[in-house]
Amino acid sequence: MPKTLEQYREELKIYNSLTGKKEKFTPLVPGHVGMYVCGPTVYSNVHLGNVRTFVSFDVIYRYLKHLGYKVRYVRNITDAGHLEDDSDEDKISKKARLEKIEPMEIVQKYTVDFHRILDKMNNLPPSIEPTATGHIIEQIEATKEILNKGLAYEVNGSIYFDVVKYNKEIDRYGKLSGRKIEELIANTRELEGQEEKRNPQDFALWKKAKPQHIMRWPSPWGEGFPGWHLECTVMSTKYLGEQFDIHGGGMDLKFPHHECEIAQGKALSGKDPVRYWMHANMLIMNGKKMSKSTGNYILPNELFSGENDKFKKAYSPATVRMFFLMAQYRNVLDLSEEALQSAEKALARIREAMKKIDRLPVSNKDSIDVATWRDSLYEAMNDDFNTPVAIARMFDAVKTINRIIDGKDSITEASKRLLSETFKIFYNDIFGLPVESESGAAQKNLEHVIKILIDLRNEARSQKNWPLADKIRDELHASGIILKDGKDGTTFEIKG
Ligand code: AMP
Ligand code: ZN
Repeated sequence: MPKTLEQYREELKIYNSLTGKKEKFTPLVPGHVGMYVCGPTVYSNVHLGNVRTFVSFDVIYRYLKHLGYKVRYVRNITDAGHLEDDSDEDKISKKARLEKIEPMEIVQKYTVDFHRILDKMNNLPPSIEPTATGHIIEQIEATKEILNKGLAYEVNGSIYFDVVKYNKEIDRYGKLSGRKIEELIANTRELEGQEEKRNPQDFALWKKAKPQHIMRWPSPWGEGFPGWHLECTVMSTKYLGEQFDIHGGGMDLKFPHHECEIAQGKALSGKDPVRYWMHANMLIMNGKKMSKSTGNYILPNELFSGENDKFKKAYSPATVRMFFLMAQYRNVLDLSEEALQSAEKALARIREAMKKIDRLPVSNKDSIDVATWRDSLYEAMNDDFNTPVAIARMFDAVKTINRIIDGKDSITEASKRLLSETFKIFYNDIFGLPVESESGAAQKNLEHVIKILIDLRNEARSQKNWPLADKIRDELHASGIILKDGKDGTTFEIKG
């Protein structure tokens, strides 16, 4: 007998970045999970590295839901307050100023892009997707409260969090990232425009807007805009409570962003805001972190369409998802042609095996133990969401399926049902891999129809009926289907 979902749920362990240990997962309210993940700053297209982080947390969300938890998953949109490195200008405000358009046009464009990409990746939407600009009032209130507690100070219309005072009076600043405040202060160079701060580690809760700064709101301290770290504190605690279960984000957000969130949360409520801190590791390319600012990046659509000079061919979103799953979320992952090709092959093999399950011959005895195999898949996921091990277990079953077909193993009707059900649960519900048949069949039908139209066009041409031949070509073109006449006949391309 395989274990029950309740039993599997009891065995889940999560690596907590705060303690540096794998811990048994016990949510604050039994049966319910509150999870917050830092969302994108919508000032440009998301790159594939960003997508990896959001897919990692999508699988975590899916698994928690599958275990029967009621999950409230909050993932924000940063549409204000994220400063350009080494400056005191907001990234979105700066782009809007340079492009001479409204900041909200930038925000709209890249929020839509972000959603489209995550849809293609088959990610589930979060339960709540709050925006920073939608929570300015709450951010002003939180700033006032921290000021009242004496843990922040005002200089020229900006409010800074007093890290040194917090560290002395409330809790150790740096406990998440393992840094010491004395070393941090010694190692920080003074940046331009930061001389207002008492200490280099102090960070802005509220920033006074300079005259050229487009995004600005009235506040008790004059016109300004909120600090990036504060928005996550305000939105996570508004929707999940002053203390909640899981907070996630990419590894690069651990310091200073999440360190500051802990300090703000604790300054406000006296409690550690988060019980399990989770950090997804980086996607790298050419040995370096994928990043917009260094130019070392690829956009998801460039990879899906094959229109890039980095890879030889196109890779589907499902292949890319499989590629992500073949590494554990806490490990660095290297994007390479070889790794994408092996993900493509792995995906095809699993899909083939799934098609074969229903046709497997049954016998009255099992030579394999499907229940134990199923337990091993959950064991892998319960070991801090170890997707590569779970996939390796799926491949064990792929081999078994082929052995049954070859008559080397046998399976009963009941075990066959369990095998089929488990494949579907893991493939679709937990890994979020799409079923090929629907889109695959539609694609094949479309290609068939285009070939018929090419034949009709050739017939028209042979009868010198040029208007009809051109009409077929132009109408197809208008629908995004481009015909190319070559020496070996006519080929076509479907533009996405
Ligand atoms: P940003 O829009 O820069 O705040 O990034 C959105 C999310 O993507 C954050 O959780 C980052 O930590 C994450 N991220 C950024 N670069 C990478 C990368 N190369 N690999 C994985 N995640 C990344
Ligand atoms: Zn955040």
